[in-house]
Amino acid sequence: MVPRRPTSLPPDRGDPDLGPGVVLHFQQLTGNRAVSDLVAPAVQRESPDGGVLATTPAAAGPTDGGAPAGGVQEDPHVQARRAFSERTVDAVAAVTDYTVVSDGERLALLELLLEVAPMSPPAAGAARRIWQAFPDVPLAASDYSAMWERCDVAGAGLPESWLGAGAGHTSFTLEENVHGSDFVAEVAYGYRITRDAITVKVGYTFMPNAGVTVPEAAWFGFIRNTWNHYTAVNQVDRTQMRRIEFQPGPGADHAVVVHAGTGRANAGEFYQDDVGAPNTIPHEFGHHIGLEDEYERSAADFRRVAEQDPAAPASAADAPDAPGIATDIRGAIMLEEHLFETHGTAVERRMGALNRVMYQHPELIQTAPTNVGNAKSRAVAAAYKAAYGTELWADIASQIDRNPGESLLNTTVGNFDDWRETMIGGFQVTSTSIMGMPELAAAGTPEHDHPVQPRHVRHFAELVQGFLGHGRWVPEADH
Ligand SMILES: [Zn+2]
Repeated sequence: MVPRRPTSLPPDRGDPDLGPGVVLHFQQLTGNRAVSDLVAPAVQRESPDGGVLATTPAAAGPTDGGAPAGGVQEDPHVQARRAFSERTVDAVAAVTDYTVVSDGERLALLELLLEVAPMSPPAAGAARRIWQAFPDVPLAASDYSAMWERCDVAGAGLPESWLGAGAGHTSFTLEENVHGSDFVAEVAYGYRITRDAITVKVGYTFMPNAGVTVPEAAWFGFIRNTWNHYTAVNQVDRTQMRRIEFQPGPGADHAVVVHAGTGRANAGEFYQDDVGAPNTIPHEFGHHIGLEDEYERSAADFRRVAEQDPAAPASAADAPDAPGIATDIRGAIMLEEHLFETHGTAVERRMGALNRVMYQHPELIQTAPTNVGNAKSRAVAAAYKAAYGTELWADIASQIDRNPGESLLNTTVGNFDDWRETMIGGFQVTSTSIMGMPELAAAGTPEHDHPVQPRHVRHFAELVQGFLGHGRWVPEADH
């Protein structure tokens, strides 16, 4: 399996470049000077690619910018003072250089522009130039995110690209092998880094079957209860932190079919009456934000994904019959295909033989919860590998590789996948986190207190780190 890492895509470029028709319209409305102020930043916007914007005054180009009738360049400080005393859109928009005022004064000027909503084109242009005057526009948009949102709602036409790495949308296909079968899940979410949080929005479109009422509020509550327990903390300066806040809600990231009754959920199918919903819905949410399963995995996948060693097998003294059981399983699954039989018939004989071995050793198969290895099954898998050099689970998967009833008219072996999972999963590795089997977590273990572990939210601390560009940001449980 090829592990795939989340890739951050550049945010949508909603750059409101002013077309010639719009410029002409503004010229008729407001005269050439105001238009030159509006157009200048549009040119400046062309170069930076979602990064830090230039700190030079937006309207520095035209020599007559803001000049009174006499043709003498007026001091922007004077213009700003006039804006604060007159408190009109015209006076605010007439300021030729917003870099001469402080952050707080820029915010106050934006407040003046917000007094009339929606914003007129000159007010929107002034708002954009004010935002561009911050020394680091993405950082200002993050620190003053509430003001950014208000300007955006009021029609300031702020391009999302100005948020830089402070916002983004990620989507990719997750591929993994669980109990010997390949699975995919679609990952999709948006994020935004504000002054005190990184908010991760995951949008759902539920598609209920006839008669089904989606318990949306309860499900979103389960997700928030399970996932919202971490803060990214800068280890270099622990006063710096961002809550990692997941916000499931209506949206287009994920289409999920909702069935009536109960059943086994997956990332694209939920069940209305799922009694395990407090765990299953947050588990599927984990896939939607990019996480792999931590149950019924190979040792190598488990080490990579769960970042821990598999539990130890029982000792030779505790499981003296492990080598013998391994030999019996080998004999069952390696039964050869006869010359005149179909592949399905050979698979069926192997299934029967493996059933007989396993029925003699029910202690190898865990039933509550199902398919979880124990010390003895790990000893058998270790003995098998020592004797034959290959993984026991992988040999079962390849020797019993399809439903023997599937190829003919007989399709009654409907529980083949469940059977195979039972045989294979117990020889694999499962964690006790939300992405494994949280019901297995023992009291007093970290997973018992937090089924979500720091590794599961680390990517979001990394996004904070990448955006702020300093320190060492690590997720820590906050409650
Ligand atoms: Zn899963």
